[in-house]
Amino acid sequence: MSGQRILAIDQGTTSTRAVMFDAAGRALATSQTPLRQIYPADGWVEHDAEEIWQATLKVCRAVIAETGGVEGIAALGITNQRETTIVWNRRTGQPVMNAIVWQDRRGAAMCTALREAGHEGTIQNKTGLLIDSYFSATKVQWVLDNVSGARVAAEKGELAFGTIDTFLLWRLTGGRVHATDATNASRTMLYDIHTGRWDDTLLDLFTVPASLLPEVRDTAGDFGATDPELFGRAIPIAALVGDQHGALVGQACFTPGMVKSTYGTGCFVLVNTGDKALPSRNRLLTTIAYRLKGKTTYALEGSIFNAGTVIQWLRDGAKMIENAAESERLAVELDGHGGKGRVYFVPAFTGLGAPHWDAGARGAILGLTRDSSIGHIVRAGLESVCYQTLDLLTALQQDGIAALPALRVDGGMIANNWLLQFLADITGIPVERPVYTETTVLGAAFLAGLGQGLFSSLDEIRSAWRLDFRATPKMPDAQRDALLDGWQDAVKRVMR
Ligand code: ADP
Repeated sequence: MSGQRILAIDQGTTSTRAVMFDAAGRALATSQTPLRQIYPADGWVEHDAEEIWQATLKVCRAVIAETGGVEGIAALGITNQRETTIVWNRRTGQPVMNAIVWQDRRGAAMCTALREAGHEGTIQNKTGLLIDSYFSATKVQWVLDNVSGARVAAEKGELAFGTIDTFLLWRLTGGRVHATDATNASRTMLYDIHTGRWDDTLLDLFTVPASLLPEVRDTAGDFGATDPELFGRAIPIAALVGDQHGALVGQACFTPGMVKSTYGTGCFVLVNTGDKALPSRNRLLTTIAYRLKGKTTYALEGSIFNAGTVIQWLRDGAKMIENAAESERLAVELDGHGGKGRVYFVPAFTGLGAPHWDAGARGAILGLTRDSSIGHIVRAGLESVCYQTLDLLTALQQDGIAALPALRVDGGMIANNWLLQFLADITGIPVERPVYTETTVLGAAFLAGLGQGLFSSLDEIRSAWRLDFRATPKMPDAQRDALLDGWQDAVKRVMR
């Protein structure tokens, strides 16, 4: 196996990256290029699919050249921003319009109409999702209803739909393979996660002809090979995986109860629930963790709207810190002084998510005294991310998740060791940071290695995961309880 490499593509919302790994999962080279955001109207967000394709070629070629050429690349895996929708012409390969990005809200009115017509239960039962314009279904419907000639062409079987994985796969294989994987399919709101099929009732509801749809395959396996003209030789494509699901694999969360939490701009938590698709009573999402050799593993997913945004606000809005790293210095310094007085920061910039679900709530800083300093407010900002994580974990536990053995973290904020210790103290769960924190793209590489037989099992991937830092809970219960009372009181004060 020595000398074999795995190429992984991470097509994200703000950039396109390629990383070359060796067969042990060590990154050898990375290339990245930013992606232009297009805002045609209020609440609309698009990407130029052609730009995504060109960027993908560029970053792949860069890491191939940097690591000694195309020989020895055993497999390619793709992870991607989920839900983003592209419709293209099967004959020419040309998209009929820009990609409609997951954040795009143009389907919101359609979603309201579906909710009012009482379809929420059916959709949640089949897809595990709550009706929302984030998911692909209303985006496809919008394309067919608004791009001139699109519906007629779709009904004649001339068009293809795909999320980013599918579009890249189509282009990489020279139009030979029109497929997706179960994780990406599970975010379209057209796919029944229990039967593992596109669902006729949902296709009727969103007026999407079945002829548009890609074949749904295992997350790791045979997706064809790259057109030899692209990189000088055909490379087997062996995995497609949605970004959050990729991170779950990159964090080697393979047994029920294992959880990964990504702290970037927002925070995304995924818990492996094994072969059970747990329905949520707390408005969390039931989703497919991965499908391997025909066997589906499920996950519950929850998110926190504001994590890194708190640090960004402290830096750019309030101008209390000059850079993100300063937040750690201030928190450590304050603790060193005995940390007198507790300030709470409820970052409900855009409302409160799980388990409060109050869209009208707005942020607040509470508990200021004459002694309060910028340090108190900054520390409270970091703490708020931890309290919100606990609230989310509590919601997951109410939905039937038993004990959580550890919280495996990634994302830009986890450079902050103070944050990780407070997170362990408040949640009462050990917090683990891996050596290689780009877990999403690592997950795609692991899966591609699995799909191509470089790894024989998930156990082999599990032993390739390496711990860098572990924070164990050590705060006395009484102190923790007092802090939590203060947080719950602060949250109550901002709710409408
Ligand atoms: P995304 O992928 O959502 O763009 P990243 O994973 O790159 O986000 O994380 C960036 C976020 O992490 C930013 O909001 C930044 O403020 C925050 N961040 C970076 N370093 C630190 C730090 N040392 N302490 C706290 N927050 C940090």
